[in-house]
Amino acid sequence: MGDPQFDLIIIGAGVMGSSTAYQAAKRGLKTLLLEQFDFLHQRGSSHGESRTIRSTYPQSHYYPLVVESYKLWEEIQAEVGYNVYFKAQHLDIGHLDDPSFRAVIENCRKHGVNHQLLNAEQVTAKYSGKFNLQEGWLGLSTEHGGMLKATKATAMFQTLAHKHGAVLKDNSKVVDIKNNGGEVVVFTENGEKVRGKKVVVTVGSWANKLIKKIRGIDLPIQAIETHLCYWRIKEGHEDKFAIGGDFPTFASYGKIYYYGTPTLEFPGLLKLGVHGGLKCDPDRRPWGQGEMMNDLKKWIDRTFSGVIDTTKPVVKQACLYSMTPDENFVIDFLDGEFKNNVVLGVGFSGHGFKMAPLVGKILTELATDGKTDKADLNHYRIGRFQRISKI
Ligand SMILES: Cc1cc2nc3c(=O)[nH]c(=O)nc-3n(C[C@H](O)[C@H](O)[C@H](O)COP(=O)(O)OP(=O)(O)OC[C@H]3O[C@@H](n4cnc5c(N)ncnc54)[C@H](O)[C@@H]3O)c2cc1C
Repeated sequence: MGDPQFDLIIIGAGVMGSSTAYQAAKRGLKTLLLEQFDFLHQRGSSHGESRTIRSTYPQSHYYPLVVESYKLWEEIQAEVGYNVYFKAQHLDIGHLDDPSFRAVIENCRKHGVNHQLLNAEQVTAKYSGKFNLQEGWLGLSTEHGGMLKATKATAMFQTLAHKHGAVLKDNSKVVDIKNNGGEVVVFTENGEKVRGKKVVVTVGSWANKLIKKIRGIDLPIQAIETHLCYWRIKEGHEDKFAIGGDFPTFASYGKIYYYGTPTLEFPGLLKLGVHGGLKCDPDRRPWGQGEMMNDLKKWIDRTFSGVIDTTKPVVKQACLYSMTPDENFVIDFLDGEFKNNVVLGVGFSGHGFKMAPLVGKILTELATDGKTDKADLNHYRIGRFQRISKI
């Protein structure tokens, strides 16, 4: 039968698969990237104008990943010759009673992240009165925020993967994978059959459908439809929220997690959203109106003192989260008959974009070297779900 046609076949061309294709091709591997829809489509998790990058996290194990990712974003955009990463300050707000907010503060101390803990008056002073904090809430400000241009960054990885020799094919849905004496055979809906030494699966919200088919196991990864919402800033206040000024990317910790970014993509509009949405089947989407919209409107009115028009979002883009029960990623070998020949990178739970350059490196190392020193995989193993379900 001869040698496998590819060293590495990557299934799914969102930001994670595209980054992996880039890292693999750059390493000199014969690489194939397969995507079920058109490249840069809008039915997964990686499209749109922007994502936040921040170095503050309630979970300690993401700090080294984010720190390394900042460096990689700068290096990779220098290689392609245009910017996908735009710097901003970052602000987290919350009450000390909130365990996640407290953990963010503790982690900043533990990991030596330069930060300022501010009371409500200090937040008002630092951000020229733009934030109006609730009674007893604090702000934690750092220099390390920023925005990543989502579709542009995914396209950047694909461009560079192609430049380094990868083969990229869209409208090629993978319907099965089989182990064949040490190599892996990948079957597409179009009737194609491709052979690779190794396979990386980065299929986002379609993870449990494909994994169930190829390994017969149920991964608890739930697709959630959520929305990116852009709101009109009232006349005369637009410049205060523009990137490059003092307005930060931010996260609000509480019963509901809200987030926002400075104005960059749509002049006069501010991106303000809520972390959550409606459970769905990624192939039978509700394309709904947006969950928790009333909570979001109330929160915007209170936090920005009426300067944002909350009648309705001016621009609204639907997007999928692929949520795990603990909101940690899944990075692991598929195991079973495939042993270490198939690697999973899925379940990025609405916060993976910022770490995509490093995730691509990790998945490439796992596939080719069988190990990585860039992350402690114990946080990302499939086995943890068995432990969770036994509790
Ligand atoms: C509204 C929203 C806001 C977010 N905000 C942030 C943020 O501020 N910061 C941050 O870091 N992260 C954020 N995220 C999360 C981040 O965008 C995701 O973690 C990341 O995009 C996940 O990428 P992915 O490649 O795993 O998934 P996807 O982008 O969904 O890619 C998976 C790809 O696999 C393809 N595929 C599936 N099945 C098959 C098959 N059988 N054969 C071939 N191809 C297949 C799909 O079509 C898809 O293109 C946000 C996400 C959303 C939706």
